[in-house]
Amino acid sequence: MDIATFRRVAPMRLQVSQWKANGHIVGVVPTMGALHDGHLSLVRAARENADRVIVTIFVNPKQFNNADDLTNYPRTEESDKKKLAPFGVDAIYAPAATEIYPEGFSTNISVANVSDGLCGAHRPGHFDGVATVVTKLLLQTGADVVFFGEKDFQQLKIVKRLVRDLDIPTRIFGCPTVRDKDNLAMSSRNSQLSARDRAAAPALYQAISAARDKILSGQTIESALQKARSDILAAGFADVEYLELRDEADLQPTNQVDKPARLLVAATIGGVRLIDNIQVP
Ligand code: AMP
Repeated sequence: MDIATFRRVAPMRLQVSQWKANGHIVGVVPTMGALHDGHLSLVRAARENADRVIVTIFVNPKQFNNADDLTNYPRTEESDKKKLAPFGVDAIYAPAATEIYPEGFSTNISVANVSDGLCGAHRPGHFDGVATVVTKLLLQTGADVVFFGEKDFQQLKIVKRLVRDLDIPTRIFGCPTVRDKDNLAMSSRNSQLSARDRAAAPALYQAISAARDKILSGQTIESALQKARSDILAAGFADVEYLELRDEADLQPTNQVDKPARLLVAATIGGVRLIDNIQVP
């Protein structure tokens, strides 16, 4: 049977209020579609931790700082629905753009500090777009629990901060990054890689895991990161946007690994921007 698909907020809310009246916990998985096993791991986590599961599919124009990227972003709703069918998803919310941004929409949610640097520095306006759409999706769905991937680590931290700051009554689950067999982090953008670039792309994860091992065995952070950067470029990446060690708690720059830190990277290959991160230690 087809999964119920809502394009409008009002009928979805009616459905959610009926579920809640029956005491059901509502879990939401926000996505931009073009679903892969990374997204499906969030759906599985939602299935295990909520009574009702809504997957949202919305390619959010406000979070694209590059018009070509928005145009080229894959849109595959029919095959997404087929992928979701075996998971017992209760509803898909794939809103019309006007349902998210009605005429005259004038509000911007901006989260300071955790948005500084990393993707925040390289994609102006991106995280305001993310924070604004996530706030809307949480308020529209009335999510009791929401599921985000650690693959977008800075995004996860931003969402945690905004939910705390705005007293949004939603619990947040961070889910581990799902990788292909060769350890490339799954991403909807991987489908845009040429065969040659796809073969080179795992160098990103290899470089950050080698850097982590070197840091943990006592090499200086600077030299470990320098080597990782040159390995990424040697593999065929055109550009390393950032490669940084950050404190896991507040995402501020750090040169200490006696408490949890994250090594985060963004690099471009064949015009496709890829990100990844790992915990250190
Ligand atoms: P997106 O459709 O790219 O906006 O991603 C929707 C959600 O899926 C976000 O919470 C992402 O962090 C998560 N996600 C994307 N790729 C992965 C992955 N490889 N592993 C785990 N979660 C992921």
